[in-house]
Amino acid sequence: MSHNLVMMSYTVATILFILSLSGLSHQENARRGNYYGMLGMAIAIVATVLSDTVNSYTILILALLIGGAIGTKAALKVEMTQMPELVAIMHSLVGMAAVLVGYANFMDHSSTITGVEKSIHEIEIYLGILIGAVTFSGSVIAFGKLSEKISGKPMLLPGRHWLNLGLLVASIFLGWLFLQQAETGGGILPLLLMTAIALAFGVHMVMAIGGADMPVVVSMLNSYSGWAAAATGFMLSNDLLIVTGALVGSSGAILSYIMCRAMNRHFLSVIAGGFGTTGGEAAVVEGEVTPIDVEETARLLLDARNIMIIPGYGMAVAQAQHTVNEITKFLKDKGKTVCFGIHPVAGRMPGHMNVLLAEAKVPYDIVFEMDEINEDWGNVDVTIVIGANDIVNPSALNDPNSPIAGMPVLECWKGDTSIVMKRSMASGYAGVGNPLFVLENTRMLFGDANTTLQAVLKALRG
Ligand code: NDP
Repeated sequence: MSHNLVMMSYTVATILFILSLSGLSHQENARRGNYYGMLGMAIAIVATVLSDTVNSYTILILALLIGGAIGTKAALKVEMTQMPELVAIMHSLVGMAAVLVGYANFMDHSSTITGVEKSIHEIEIYLGILIGAVTFSGSVIAFGKLSEKISGKPMLLPGRHWLNLGLLVASIFLGWLFLQQAETGGGILPLLLMTAIALAFGVHMVMAIGGADMPVVVSMLNSYSGWAAAATGFMLSNDLLIVTGALVGSSGAILSYIMCRAMNRHFLSVIAGGFGTTGGEAAVVEGEVTPIDVEETARLLLDARNIMIIPGYGMAVAQAQHTVNEITKFLKDKGKTVCFGIHPVAGRMPGHMNVLLAEAKVPYDIVFEMDEINEDWGNVDVTIVIGANDIVNPSALNDPNSPIAGMPVLECWKGDTSIVMKRSMASGYAGVGNPLFVLENTRMLFGDANTTLQAVLKALRG
């Protein structure tokens, strides 16, 4: 394929990626956004494969077949609740690719560039490996934390900020050393040392972040993976990879900012780690819970006029979204006002609840963001909290020692009655007790959310 045709295809792919991002910004267009992205990626792959930079089709096709088979198998096998982990591990692969491309570039002596151009290329290699290694190890730890293979508790080493600063200074010094040695064809030692430091930094950074701050880490690593891809693009002189990487990097950075704002956190405090750890002990929740049964729940719902549904991670685990939709339809047909309140960090990935509700075909116009409804609790007769915990925890507002202190939450206790559906008194992802469960106007409906909701639907239908 001629160079011009490749460039034209890259431009079309870039436009499709931009359309994809804008489509993904709203549920109604999200499906279309995905199609644009898939088409853009198909064009990008075909144009790159047919370009004259490729000279060994056997290896390429073999790699595509192996990668494609692993990707297809993972996508078919993964449960909806494992999506966040899958995304984290995918980010780690982007990081690893940047590291490998960096080393391959470093070892490739066929290039004829000299002078400033050569130095710039060496800086690209150094930065590409640095960002890639941080993304790789950080994402692996994020994967461990999201799949609960690693504890969500922050690991706070003494003097951790100094340690981070030391690692940064060492990386800058090694970068200088690398550039010096690369002049004479050397530089592998500083490169290897920096890679080890970057890997350690990625591990330390994510280990120091408490469970409640994980949403920011997920979006931040998403952003890093974009910058790692952009760095790979620079190393390979591939314009499309630079643009795509920058799109992912900047949209991930915007998402991190949105998540920080939603959680009332400062971005820098989150990535420096250990935010929300005041050193004090979170208050212990004391009091009696008031259980409720399925029939009583159905009666309360039939008596109510305004009903609010707050879904959380437990709805994803129980895969209760379709039953939730059935109940919503039933109650709406009975003339009730039913709305959904979505917390920005509900579930385990940004937009998790919106995806599930869209999958179950819950109408978009009854799904509200937290900010849109948090003033209106006075009008709510019954709130059903489905497998949510941290996002409805009043201690975020009144216990300064809580790991989630300062995070805005859905203040459902200000409504008439809240019915909380979960299996036990276990805590949520942040690992803190929830005083909502013992409030006078809270009723606990214990059991798997889907099984219980099916029983409630049956009771509603009489
Ligand atoms: P939580 O993790 O706080 O609580 C979920 C609750 O669901 C648990 O207490 C659990 O209680 C219950 N549950 C689990 N399975 C079922 C089931 N089958 N049926 C009924 N209930 C069930 O979830 P939230 O959505 O309230 O909050 C999200 C948390 O995750 C926040 O701390 C957030 O910071 C964090 N996070 C969010 C990310 C994001 O991007 N959105 C990313 C990473 C972390 P029980 O075991 O008793 O049933």
